[in-house]
Amino acid sequence: MAYSEEQGGVPCGFIRQNSGNSISLDFEPNTEYWFVEQLEERYKCAFCRSVLHNPHQTGCGHRFCQHCILSLRELNAVPLCPVDKEVIRSQEVFKDNCCKREVLNLYVYCKNAPGCNAKIILGRYQDHLQQCLFQAVQCSNENCQEQVLRKDLKEHLSAHCRFREEKCLYCKKDVVVINLQYHEENLCPEYPVSCPNKCSQIIPRTEVDEHLAVCPEAEQDCPFKHYGCTVKDKRGILQEHEHSALRDHMLLVLEKNFQLEEQISDLYKSLEQKESKIQQLAETVKKFEKEFKQFAQLFGKNGSFLSNIQVRNGLFTHSQDLAFNWQSRFFLQLLKWR
Ligand SMILES: [Zn+2]
Ligand SMILES: [Zn+2]
Ligand SMILES: [Zn+2]
Ligand SMILES: [Zn+2]
Ligand SMILES: [Zn+2]
Ligand SMILES: [Zn+2]
Ligand SMILES: [Zn+2]
Repeated sequence: MAYSEEQGGVPCGFIRQNSGNSISLDFEPNTEYWFVEQLEERYKCAFCRSVLHNPHQTGCGHRFCQHCILSLRELNAVPLCPVDKEVIRSQEVFKDNCCKREVLNLYVYCKNAPGCNAKIILGRYQDHLQQCLFQAVQCSNENCQEQVLRKDLKEHLSAHCRFREEKCLYCKKDVVVINLQYHEENLCPEYPVSCPNKCSQIIPRTEVDEHLAVCPEAEQDCPFKHYGCTVKDKRGILQEHEHSALRDHMLLVLEKNFQLEEQISDLYKSLEQKESKIQQLAETVKKFEKEFKQFAQLFGKNGSFLSNIQVRNGLFTHSQDLAFNWQSRFFLQLLKWR
């Protein structure tokens, strides 16, 4: 589409915005705006009847939004001006920057009126909404879907948002408010819980085990269980039992003591027997040592002595066998003593 860039002879109104700034000015088309002064006919699109967005002027002198003139050309092979039915020739259409500047500088009320009483030029309308205190914005907490007015966001975040963090009253850790109840009832180490034995005491969750070791309602064995007392009861009642069963406990201890004494005496006897066996063994060892010494002397002095024994007994073939025989006897004797 070849639009002429040449400016037409349309009278240009008072320019409130210089052309440099006007580049950054814009507004959302297809949105209702509330103009401070009634919108003049010359700022309305001849096709959509809304305020002109990127106005273009045709040869017949009517103005259209840029997107409107594009759709007119798309819908019709020969586009006609809806006002005077003149053929719209693309070479006669030009961008009406003068009109554009005027439109962008028209004053509108903020859509959040009457809360917000700002009057803004149309070209700055979006910028204003980015800061307007009465504009609804999404809560900045990731999981929160709530929309609040910008002016209320701070309070929402600090006091109302279910996804804000608050200090747990008990353990002082930061917990997301929506999880606080679960944290207290299941996770918080400092949350006060009642004793599982129902002793009426309230204790921090982490100290339950410690408490159970002293809880008067906890069942436990009599401390004289080892001596044969089979009583098992709540700690409080057990203390009474310890007092009342003092004589029974003493008898149990005495009986146990008697058994122990008997055991000791048996052990002592067995020890004595072992000692005497050791003594006998030592004597045997001494005897064999003596024999061995004599044998060694004989063997050392006279080689022929050995051969005599060999011949006489026909038992040993050489001297090593003789020594082996002697050792065997010694060890057999040791085994017998064990
Ligand atoms: Zn239009
Ligand atoms: Zn026309
Ligand atoms: Zn506003
Ligand atoms: Zn929130
Ligand atoms: Zn906690
Ligand atoms: Zn308890
Ligand atoms: Zn007892």
